[in-house]
Amino acid sequence: MKYANDIGGIAGQILIAAAEALDADYSKGDAAYSVTELIDDPHIKRLQREHMAEVVEPVSHSSFKVDGQIVHKILELAAHRLGDAVVIPEKRLFAEIEVQDGLTVRVSGQYDTCAITGEATLGDWKNTSVWAAMQDDPKPEWVRQLNLLGYLAALNGVHVEALEINLRLRDWSATQVGKKAGYPRVPYATVQIPMWPMAETRSYLATRIRAHLDAYGSTDCEPDGRWENPPTFAVMTAGLKRAAKVELSYDDALAWNDRNPDAKRRHRSIVERPGTNNRCEPNGDGHSYCPVTQWCARGRAAHGLPEIVKPTESAR
Ligand code: SF4
Repeated sequence: MKYANDIGGIAGQILIAAAEALDADYSKGDAAYSVTELIDDPHIKRLQREHMAEVVEPVSHSSFKVDGQIVHKILELAAHRLGDAVVIPEKRLFAEIEVQDGLTVRVSGQYDTCAITGEATLGDWKNTSVWAAMQDDPKPEWVRQLNLLGYLAALNGVHVEALEINLRLRDWSATQVGKKAGYPRVPYATVQIPMWPMAETRSYLATRIRAHLDAYGSTDCEPDGRWENPPTFAVMTAGLKRAAKVELSYDDALAWNDRNPDAKRRHRSIVERPGTNNRCEPNGDGHSYCPVTQWCARGRAAHGLPEIVKPTESAR
């Protein structure tokens, strides 16, 4: 992958150099897949593998990746002070996973910390928003990632008893503390991750490997992989901008309207709001969160690019 200096000047050059150094340092070892790859969509991962050398990403999109190194420095310093008996930092684990009879695939995954203070707690550290920390449930990808890492740890002889995500809240503001319900008191939060039963994790891992092995010729990401917000149906009241109710289906919106007639007997209508695929669609800077939109039919359509027409056999 190459980086474009969309920040400009020396600052942009420094970030590019840092991002390139991180890419050069990264290795999943001699594994076919890493946990990070497996929890992502097989289609986008296939396109990234095939077009990695051609991808040019604005370096500003990589600034969080570079910022994440602060955490790694923190862990390194803490482990040095606390000792391996308490915190084992950043270890890559490997395991052979049987996907089906006769087919075994080598997988790797790296945890940030394994803290041994009474019970073994596997932890990952992330830079994220206050909003993410204030949700009732942890993000599904955090749950998948930590459970797969916990499973790899078990296969490597570490009995993990708890999983957690440690969040550094990059947009935290002291002025908001006490003003919003549930706003974190400090710019850090720890989220406990529910542990799956081993059999369920093993089955999920095998299913993900199978999906990635079968991705050759894939044409689209799953809704989850393209960060889909499905279409919604808004019950609108004449003269008001705000929807009285938003439902996921027309029938639910209609049923809600029948149960809740407007007190002033104003006219109501049901308006369909189109869904979005937030990973595919251009952001304000014209780029997407997805780095391979130009090789994907959905991504090209989202960016207003013409379809790629493959030459037929007779035209070659
Ligand atoms: S453009 Fe969307 S559908 Fe295509 S690879 Fe990217 S995220 Fe997936």
